[in-house]
Amino acid sequence: MVEVLAGAAIMNRFAPALARLTGSVAPAVRLARRRPVFLGLLLSASVLVVMVAALLDARRDAWARASDASANLARALERDLSSEVRSIDLALQAVADTMAYADGERISPEFRRLLIMQQVGATRYLDAVLLLDDDGEVAFDSRQDAPAIPADLTDRDYFAAHRDRADLGLFVSKPFRSRRAGGQWTIGFSRRLSRPDGSFAGIVLGVIRLTRLQATFEDMQLGPRGSMTLLRDDGLVLARTPFDERNLGRDLSHAPAFRRAQQAGVQQFVAISIVDGVERFYTQRHFEGVPLFINVALAVHDVYSAWRRKAAVIGGVTLLLVGAMAVLLIRLHRELGRRQVLEQAARSSETAFRLLTENSGDGVCRLDAGGRRLYTSPASEAIFGRPAEELVGRHLLDDVSPEDVSVVRDAIARLREGETTTRIEYRIVLPDLEQVWVETSLRAILNPVTGRAEGIIAVKRDVTERKALEGRLAALARTDGLTGLSNRRAFDEALALEWSRARRESTPVSLLLLDVDRFKLFNDTYGHPAGDACLRAVAGAVAAAVHRPADLVARYGGEEIVVLLPNTSAAGAEMLAEQVRAAVEAVGLKHTANLPLGVVTVSVGAATALPAADPDLFAEALVAAADAALYSAKHSGRNRVAVAASVPPPAALPPVPAEEEVRLAAVAAYEGPWFAGRGKEELDRVTRLAAALLGTPIAAISLVGEDWQEFVSRVGLEQAGTPKDISFCGHLVASDEEILVVPNAALDPRFSANPLVASTPGIRFYAGAPLVCPLTGQRLGSLCIIDQVPRPALNPSQRALLADLAALAVDALAHRRAPIAALV
Ligand code: GH3
Ligand code: MG
Ligand code: MG
Repeated sequence: MVEVLAGAAIMNRFAPALARLTGSVAPAVRLARRRPVFLGLLLSASVLVVMVAALLDARRDAWARASDASANLARALERDLSSEVRSIDLALQAVADTMAYADGERISPEFRRLLIMQQVGATRYLDAVLLLDDDGEVAFDSRQDAPAIPADLTDRDYFAAHRDRADLGLFVSKPFRSRRAGGQWTIGFSRRLSRPDGSFAGIVLGVIRLTRLQATFEDMQLGPRGSMTLLRDDGLVLARTPFDERNLGRDLSHAPAFRRAQQAGVQQFVAISIVDGVERFYTQRHFEGVPLFINVALAVHDVYSAWRRKAAVIGGVTLLLVGAMAVLLIRLHRELGRRQVLEQAARSSETAFRLLTENSGDGVCRLDAGGRRLYTSPASEAIFGRPAEELVGRHLLDDVSPEDVSVVRDAIARLREGETTTRIEYRIVLPDLEQVWVETSLRAILNPVTGRAEGIIAVKRDVTERKALEGRLAALARTDGLTGLSNRRAFDEALALEWSRARRESTPVSLLLLDVDRFKLFNDTYGHPAGDACLRAVAGAVAAAVHRPADLVARYGGEEIVVLLPNTSAAGAEMLAEQVRAAVEAVGLKHTANLPLGVVTVSVGAATALPAADPDLFAEALVAAADAALYSAKHSGRNRVAVAASVPPPAALPPVPAEEEVRLAAVAAYEGPWFAGRGKEELDRVTRLAAALLGTPIAAISLVGEDWQEFVSRVGLEQAGTPKDISFCGHLVASDEEILVVPNAALDPRFSANPLVASTPGIRFYAGAPLVCPLTGQRLGSLCIIDQVPRPALNPSQRALLADLAALAVDALAHRRAPIAALV
């Protein structure tokens, strides 16, 4: 009851602290939920607490075991020794009683001896029994071998004690050195011998050798610093282990441990020994019916020594593990903290990204590496005509117009292969199936470790209007302003394209060339503006007469109109030519000077070619054939159709001039052993200069012969020469152009079908200046620069430079010139 009340009081006193504690534990629990590291530390601390509790428990166990063991030991010793002492006492009593009964004086020595020896034999420890007379002299000693030394023992404590007190009973003496037993440490047990009148007649004394007791004590396992002491009730030490003579007979009645034990009857207690200052755990036990007690004392230090070793090992290992765990947790904590900072940074850059994209007029998307949308900015809605959420998850290709899918797919592939940015234009199909042109910049987001694209940012802009404008401008650039037909440029391009297509597909190409009859007179009669109106009317009539989508009607120049008819046979072309002619006549535009009809009419020349039949055939040949047919239509009376008999064989080169023989003779004078000597070096220097100054990979100096053109110096070129009929230089030599510049040979009708252009990689850019013989003025060949990509036309200073270099080349060639006096 008292304890319960005390418990309640304690609870009341600590309630506020407890509340504070639980109050501070709750946030800790919340923290643990958020922070695994904190939870880990909490667990480590719990492990430590459990370990400490277990060790404390083990310590208590060690104590309890020591307590039990020493209690058992003390009990066993007490039983053993007290029964022994009682048997000694009984033996002494028996001797004393017999002596009193028989009046000692009259007992024969033999009987006395028999009696005493019998009693000695009945005990375990007793060494000898002596009889002392009232003077303290030894009357009998059971040890026959005892020396006959002076035997006055009146000085012994036991003698005085019995002499002075008749009722003393059993007396246990202080340990003494026995004079009769060679100075051995001995304890005496004695009883008084009384005469029948009760007067002192002497004593009967039993002695035990201390070594025997000591041996019993030392058999006990008391640990290195344990002790065991046999004391008299008055505190006098009879025997003690560890053995030390000085302690024998010592009075410990004033020792605190002794007094405490006496007072409270406490059997077990801890005290510091006044003998050796060691703190011990004492178990004390009083002998039953004998004025002696024994105490068994284990050193407190020894009690715990086994526990201490175990605790050191377990505690050490646990601390090590918990320490290691704590270090790991702290590292983990730091790592988590670092990640948190990075995540925070990523979040804020994400926020900045969103802020920028959501306020931008361009549609911004983030895509995964495969092209699937992960995020779409609000501006994309306006472009795609869909809510931004609907766009997320769709693939970039999902909205692309089928014609442009490859453009987008190629761009994604380029980014995957390592390109970081690319810009593409393509059409997307809106939900209402309308198409919108977009310009998209794609940028790869690279993984900093692998360097591979792990995502793509796409910024999109609606360029439909710009595209439409561009388309209109492009169309304008290819349209003739007066008639609305395609212009000469558009025709040239279409002819080159259709010519190579026809060659690939082995189809025929036809051409109609029209010229208004006596148009000069029309102008003269009706005026120039009326002439323009007439041209528009004629153009309209021609355009209306042509129906196939691939057919192209263009103003070729002046009042000449050309009709390109891809995949059309000669018969088809003739039929169409007649329809066109009739259509113009049917307009019935008055032209009084154009007799006999007096209306505007046209003459038409038709020509057809099969480009695949002859690889050397050029598109110009077709034009030339149509032109020739037109000429013949004019001469046969106008307002009629003439069909070219056949497209003439390769006629790209102008007809051989009369002077060609002279020219070839001049070239022959320069032909010689070019591959050694000073002239060659100078030539090569000029060639290198030409390539370096004009920035092309190829430069060469050629001499154009009758059917072969030879490169006498060259840079960046494998071939030593080419057939003359396909040579650009040959073309230049045969023409009268000052300098020949071809910015893009693929688009030039004169060269587009040339094998040097059509092959891959073929010539695209060519610029050449003629080498003019200073003696005859003939063109010997050319200094040319060549590139495999198109380039802009040369500006005036570049043209002058090329001409100057050509003059230098002629000077260098002069070193090898044969005497040509005969030539001139
Ligand atoms: P032919 O029957 O032989 O063709 O006789 P022609 O008078 O038509 O001769 P030619 O074809 O040589 O005449 C070309 C004339 O066409 C020269 C020029 O006065 C006229 N011409 C060329 N272009 C235009 C133009 O754009 N507008 C106008 N009004 N006249 C042009
Ligand atoms: Mg004309
Ligand atoms: Mg004409």
